[in-house]
This record gives sequence, C-alpha cells and structure tokens, in this order.
Amino acid sequence: MLQAQVRWPRPSRLEDPLDVPHGKLADGLEALGLTSVGALLEHLPKDSREARTVAALRAGEQATVAVQVRTIAARPVRRRGMKPLVEASVFDATGTMRATFFNQPWLAQRYEPGTRLVLYGKTTARGTFNVAHHAIGNDLGAHPTDTPGEIAHYPATEGVSSTQILTLMQGVRDALADVPEALSAAMRVSEGLPDRRSALAAMHFPHTAEDRETGRERLAFEELLLTQLVFLRRRARRRARMDAFALCEPQSLSERWLERELPFALTGDQRRAVDTIREELASIRPMQRLLMGEVGSGKTVVALYAMLRAVEHGRQAALMAPTETLAEQHFATVQRLIGGEPVPAALLTGSTAARRRADILGKLASGELALIVGTHSLIEPDVRFRSLAVAVVDEQHRFGVRQRAALDGKGALVAGGGGPIGDRLAPHVLHMTATPIPRTLALAGYGDLDVSRLHELPRGRQAIATRIVAGDSARERAYEELRKELRAGRQAYVVCPLIEETLPPHAPDPGPSVASKPAPVGAGPSAEVRPSPGVGASVAGAVADRSEIGQRAATAEYERLAKGELKEYELVLLHGGMRPREKQEAMARFASGEADVLVATTVIEVGLDVANATVMLVENAERFGLSQLHQLRGRVGRGEHRSTCLLVGPPGARRLRAMVEHADGFKLAEIDLELRSEGELVGTRQSGLSQFEVACLPEDGALLERARARAEAIMATDPKLEGSEHVLLGEALAHAFGVEAFEPIPA
Ligand code: ADP
Ligand code: MG
Repeated sequence: MLQAQVRWPRPSRLEDPLDVPHGKLADGLEALGLTSVGALLEHLPKDSREARTVAALRAGEQATVAVQVRTIAARPVRRRGMKPLVEASVFDATGTMRATFFNQPWLAQRYEPGTRLVLYGKTTARGTFNVAHHAIGNDLGAHPTDTPGEIAHYPATEGVSSTQILTLMQGVRDALADVPEALSAAMRVSEGLPDRRSALAAMHFPHTAEDRETGRERLAFEELLLTQLVFLRRRARRRARMDAFALCEPQSLSERWLERELPFALTGDQRRAVDTIREELASIRPMQRLLMGEVGSGKTVVALYAMLRAVEHGRQAALMAPTETLAEQHFATVQRLIGGEPVPAALLTGSTAARRRADILGKLASGELALIVGTHSLIEPDVRFRSLAVAVVDEQHRFGVRQRAALDGKGALVAGGGGPIGDRLAPHVLHMTATPIPRTLALAGYGDLDVSRLHELPRGRQAIATRIVAGDSARERAYEELRKELRAGRQAYVVCPLIEETLPPHAPDPGPSVASKPAPVGAGPSAEVRPSPGVGASVAGAVADRSEIGQRAATAEYERLAKGELKEYELVLLHGGMRPREKQEAMARFASGEADVLVATTVIEVGLDVANATVMLVENAERFGLSQLHQLRGRVGRGEHRSTCLLVGPPGARRLRAMVEHADGFKLAEIDLELRSEGELVGTRQSGLSQFEVACLPEDGALLERARARAEAIMATDPKLEGSEHVLLGEALAHAFGVEAFEPIPA
C-alpha cells in the first residue's frame, strides 16, 4: 500500500485535446462536441447491451460479443476495387468462431493474436460473424473467460460509431482520476451515492446493468441538485437584492369586496390561497408565488384579491396575459368581479389606440390608474408606474426570465433613494397557470416559485357525466342525447382534432421533424392546439393515415352534421384557420344562443364560457392528450344544468377510461404523466421536463425530491457556497450554468 503511487487529480488534463487523426472520425467527434478528454468522459452512453457468448449467437441477429483473437490474416478479394478481407478466428469461454472485417486490411497487424476485442455485428447463415464495429476490449468489464458483461452504447453520429467511442473511452480511462468531485464526502455517504469518477466508470465500463444505473443515479442526482440550487439561489438573490412594499395595513376595500361584492363564498382552496397571499404581501420580501388551478377553478378571483390589497394601500396592481384575447377576457372578468367598488382600471394591449395609450401611460405614471390589465405592452420601457406593488402574470411559462425581470423593474421608486438595486421596490408577483402539474414536475420546472393549488372547483359546479362512445349504434345514441339537450334549449359542442379533410396542395410535406414535435402547450385562442400525439400518433401521422383512423375534420363534420344528424339545428364552425373576425363572430353567435351547436377544433379550449352548453362530443378522443381532454371537458358543466361529455374512441383506451373515472385535473395530470413518455407530455416545455441530460422524469421523481431537500439544506446553512465542503459544488454550478448562475447573493 505504501508503495502505491499517489496521484493527485489534475483537472487541467481533462482539457487535453483528443488524440485523433484528421478525417471522418475527427469530424464526427467534433460534431458531437467531443474535442477534449473531459468532454469525452462526460459523453454518456444511452444504454448498455449485454454481450453475448459465442455459443449463444444466432444467425441473422445483431449482437455484441467479447472475444479474444486466436489467429488473424488478410485475404485478398478477387473483385476489383475491394480491399482485402481480414479473417480472424476468435474465441471466448463458450466457443470459437470465424469473424470477418471488411475494408480494413491493417487490422491484421493491429489485432494480433491474444488481443481482446469487443465486436458488434451479425452472424451469417454459415456461422461467420460479420463485424460492423469493433474495439479493443482489454479494459472492459467483459472478459473472454468470464461470463459476458455489459457493453456501453453511445449516441453516435455520421462518421463515429458507438464502438469507436468506446475505444476512445478506453484510451482516456486513466483521466477519470482527474475528474473533479462536486459532492462532499459527507453528502455522498448520507445519500448513499458513489463518487463522480466511479459513477462515470460504472457508466462507461459497466459489469452489470445495475452498475450502470448506480452510476447514472449519482450523475442524475448531481444534475438535479445543481438545478435546484440555481432556482433557490435565483430566489434568494431577488429577495436579498430587492425589497417589496409591505402591504400590511388592515383590509378595507378587499374585505368589503370579499364580503359584499363577490356573489359567492370562496372555496376552501381559494380561502387558503388568499390567506397565504395576504401573509406574503405583508412582508417586505417580494412574493413569488405560482397559483395553479385549471380553467374555472377561480384563480382570477384570488388574483384580484391580491391586486385589491395593493389598491387599498394606495398602490397599483397589474395583470399581464400572454395574448390580447386573454387580456381582454381578464379585463372583462375583473370589471365584473369588482362590481360596485370604485377602482380605476384600464386595458392596455398592442392594439390600444395611440391617443388612448398615451392617456393610460400618463395615468399610470401619476397613480391615477390603480389597476391595469394588459399584454407584454405593460413591460415596454416607456410604461412607468407610480407605485406598482402587485403584479399578476397569467400563463407564466409564456414569459421568460427576462420579462419577469422587466416586471421587477416596474416597481416603485424607493422614497429618498439609497435603496437596493435601482432604488426600486420589487412588486409582489403572483403567477397563474391553468395547467395543473404534479408536485415533482413543478419542482423541476418552477423550483424558484412557491406554489398554491386550487383543486376544488367552485361550489355549484357539477360533476360532468363522462362516457366513451364506441361503435355505430353508440354514436347514434350519442347524437340522440345531443338532440335531447338541444330540444330542451341547451347547447352543445362537437370537437374534432383536425381542421380540414385534406392537406392543402401547397402545404409542405410534413417531415419527421414536424411529426415528432410535441403539441403546443396551454395554447390560447391565438394558437390552435393540435391533437397532442398519443403513443405512435402525431399531427403529421394523423394526416397520413387518416383513411385508416377515419378522422372527422371539423369543417367536414360541420357540413355533414348540418345536413344530417343535426339538420334541425343552427350550427357554427370555429377553427384556427379562420380570421380573427370570423372567429369572434362564430363565438359570439354561440355565446348569445343564436347557434345551438359549435363544431370546433380545440380553439375553444380557452376563452369561451357558455353556461347553457351542457353536452360535448369529442371525435377521435384518443388522439387528444389527457390534460387537453380535461380542459376541453371543462367547457361544459358551467351552469346550473347537468352536463355530459361524450368521448368517441376505443373503449379500452386508458386515457379515455381515466377521463370517465376522474374529475380532478391534478389527478389526471398525474395519470397523463404515467401514460406518456418524456417529451410527449403536454406541459413539458413549461415544466422543464426535458431540460435534463442524465435525469429522467418522472422516473427520477424521488431523486429530485432528495436533491431538492439537499439544496434547501445547503441554502439554509451556506447560501453562498463558501464552506469548504461546498466550494467545488459552486464551481460545478458555474461550470454548468455560467457565471450568472453563480452571481453572489447580496448579504
Ligand atoms: P380561472 O381564472 O381559474 O379560470 P375564474 O376566477 O375566472 O377562474 O372563475 C371562473 C368562474 O367561476 C367565474 O365566473 C367566477 O366568477 C366563478 N367563481 C370563482 N370562484 C367561485 C366560488 N368560490 N364560488 C362560485 N363561483 C366562483
Ligand atoms: Mg380565468
């Protein structure tokens, strides 16, 4: 032991360039970003393949084997232009076979007898192994005299095969000793995680699949810990840098409003959210809260409470929405909810006339306007508030960090100056989202926000009877049910997943990139929500295989129903391809009751509230995501009448069954998560699910919880990461997220 060579990590060696001659391989490596030893070591295998024994190889099957060379020789090929073949006799503990290498005569010299090799290829009918990729396997877990181990499999590209990467990896294996360790020994012990270099070694050179998983978990933990630290540090920085105006006087206006103006009592969830918000507004620490609740759960009511708290302190409040239509709707709701209270309010969007805009800006600057609702227009540089104290941001995932910062910049000037950054007070911010996502995903995506959830729907809202409609006779009965409601004076929705029956002739050929794109998320009326891809289905796919699936496009369905099953009734058509004017006319005709049935694509998801509509029939329901179906269903059951949702689709579809069984959007979001793989999930983008390289959600949910707890503990004791056990963690943070992420937190 004493004679063992002591080696100190030498991280600079990780920056050494890879020793690869110019050519296809070097180009391929560069394309993968693998230009240094360190980068190569961080290039993780996607999975590992169990190596086969020679005896277990079957003709025609692609496989990996770990063998040793017995004899090897080049053999000329008679056909012109072909380089000599190299034939080798190779063996492992179970047997011997012949292996053929093509086009690489030099291998006869390089792989001398005794060399251990990893071969990937296919056994021919005559029992020869045709080698597609090969690498020296001396250092691999697999050993010809052992049972075969696991062979790492890498994301490869033009010019670089997985096996070539493996060969290079073996060449730099010693450099693993130079890999820096970001997690303290104490943390590794209590989390039961290996050190970083062992984790990398286990991934690149696994003996078993479990090895690889242990290594992956360690790396995933670190990745999750770093992202949580970034979130928490961002929050801490904002708190430390900017104070907010403490809204701590007794409630006057807000209380009167809750008691007298609101025509209903708050639900338990609303009450809890209001209580939490009241407390947070009373602090000089700027609030950063996310209010999650599906459409109709009463978020706007809670938001308005927060805004009125600002108003009753003689301060201002703003509500920012991602689209003009949403801003207009919010403004209408706010005006209706405020009732008789004299609160000067205005709407500011991109289409506000110049004269009116100037007037509004003047009144915001003077403080005459207490409450403003609008779009991005609210954060334009020339918009100045006299004293903005509360800002509400709807569908916050549509706004970036920079826009949030712009909002902070609209805070009130600190009287007398001398205050923190910019001498401004940060507004308290309430974010709202109608996409309920499970806790773990919220942590991954919104780890810098505190979360309130509105589960309960307001009282008086009825359970919506939901049924699956399968087969022609069931469809007949469904139309009969629709007609019965229409005869009783109610209204109905028919929802279809596509706009038109065929692609317009000029439409671009939907390539694979289109096909793999996830559906847009939480799209407002301006952006049509396409049916989100179910397993194996996609927008483009839906176009291609329509004849099989029997898609009923909205336009065709509108025409068909108008002449057929619903010919006695007034129908309107609504889809994303219509002009805004036409859309508004269609919606207005339905809202006023002039039209009985709205045949639509998912544009109705947001923005139409018709209490008299009691039936919804969804065509090809299995093509929609669960969250989307849930949002669609929320369009009915808004009035006093019993409502029904009819889902046309295969009775066995799990998503449809979940819709029948559950009404809670959060529960459905969880099921959605289970049913979908990463990347297909509705809400992926805003929940930040696909931001990770190693971690994989939702599977790593428990690991994420652990990382979050760790991050919180670190922030509680050593937020600046100055302690000796955290210094390297800080460096890893700066390395992964750039120096901004590691900006100091002001004391
Ligand atoms: P969201 O913003 O979450 O979509 P809103 O705040 O706009 O929901 O509320 C949806 C509808 O429900 C509105 O018409 C609102 O007046 C009503 N509402 C909200 N809270 C309650 C409640 N506690 N009881 C009865 N109706 C309510
Ligand atoms: Mg609302």
